[in-house]
Amino acid sequence: MIFIDTNGNCLNEKKYIFDFLFKRINLDYQINLSEVTDITISNPSTGKKLVFDDIFFQFAGKNWLVDCLHLVSQESIDVDFLGLKLPGIGNNVPILFHGECSDKSYCEETKCKFDLFGSCFYLISRYEEVIIKNRDNHGRFSFQDSFVAKANCLSVPLVDAYTLILIGLLRHFIGVEVSEWSTHNYKVNVSCDIDIPFWAPNSVKSFVRRYLKDTLEQRSFRGGYQRFKKYIKIRENSFLDDPFAKNIEFIASENEKFNRKVDFFIIPLRTHTSFDNEENIESQRFLHILKSIKMRGHRIGVHPGYLTCSSSSNMKRSVEKFRQFHVRNFGDLREIISRQHYLRWDSYRTPELLMENGVTVDTTMGYADYIGFRPSTCSEFFLYDLKNRRSTTVLERPLNVMDATLLAPRYMGIIDLNEAIEKINELKEMCKAYNGHFNILWHNSYFEKKEYYEFYKMAIKE
Ligand SMILES: [Zn+2]
Repeated sequence: MIFIDTNGNCLNEKKYIFDFLFKRINLDYQINLSEVTDITISNPSTGKKLVFDDIFFQFAGKNWLVDCLHLVSQESIDVDFLGLKLPGIGNNVPILFHGECSDKSYCEETKCKFDLFGSCFYLISRYEEVIIKNRDNHGRFSFQDSFVAKANCLSVPLVDAYTLILIGLLRHFIGVEVSEWSTHNYKVNVSCDIDIPFWAPNSVKSFVRRYLKDTLEQRSFRGGYQRFKKYIKIRENSFLDDPFAKNIEFIASENEKFNRKVDFFIIPLRTHTSFDNEENIESQRFLHILKSIKMRGHRIGVHPGYLTCSSSSNMKRSVEKFRQFHVRNFGDLREIISRQHYLRWDSYRTPELLMENGVTVDTTMGYADYIGFRPSTCSEFFLYDLKNRRSTTVLERPLNVMDATLLAPRYMGIIDLNEAIEKINELKEMCKAYNGHFNILWHNSYFEKKEYYEFYKMAIKE
């Protein structure tokens, strides 16, 4: 047990981040509110104290969600004195908020100038995504605008690295002995967003529309006749011959070899005519496929459509339709797992909307344009609702890799598949080292090249 002395400024946020950090290392704590201006941790059994500067909460308490980028540092802390070599970073670790320190030592005797708690909160709550307004053409926050991109440590879960520093500081300065992590966690979670369940649309009209859309995107009219012939053939035979439907079967079988349940996400409600597919989840052919994967023990989750991340009514209608659909066809839902279509996410609104609608697990938190650790942790955590300033009951399972992020030219565009596998393996190693999960998303519609099948088998290995 440790005691934490602090003031009541941003108390919800402080409690939230203390809970996350201290639960992870299995350390009980008690908060004593007082008039102090810093965060003091004391160990009653040694009588020793460690004082952390409180920079972020001090500012945010008076200026909630006001730009605080002028406080964000470009410095780093040398953790050699703690005997730490952090996976992926070494002993020189970038820090966000800190108090004034002329010789850059940041931690000496009983004083730590590095505002570790405020920095962790800022990263994990995605506070920066609210104060930085830049967005891509789908309204998404880009990795390029993140602190970790600027600090050049995108492939490291920085909050987890800070957790190890915290353990080191508690040991070194106040004699608290804690084991590194309370549980051993590493595993690979695989999911599939069924944005387009069937390659062959359910009507000729839709076929022509989709052909024109693809043609415009790729700026090439070639292959139209071949494509039409293939479409007719699938229509005449069985929908089970449809390549996208077959890919669902492939994904299920490959993961069954690892005894793994896959999370398949479906769009229950069309909220946008271009970006949400028109296949109805109730269509006979789709229901057939879903029943088959469900029978095999895989999970079906909700994929709220393109216009849901900031829309209360669209989110409500989507989750409600999914819930009814699930109850009707597969029975009661004990948990609702969810991922936002296009990874569209509004850090100010989405956590509240998910919680209000009874979502229990979300797995959206990854950048569309870069693989890695968007909330700077590979551990699961409860989302923070920045709008209402409270923790939520929605457990976030951060996403590390999406197929298109890695391979599509508009994002990382890696051409050499060996290099792509290496990138995946590096992230897996990082998740192992920081005791988290590795989460990968592969669409059933993302197997346009034959070699992607072999690639997939490698990517989902433990
Ligand atoms: Zn999607």
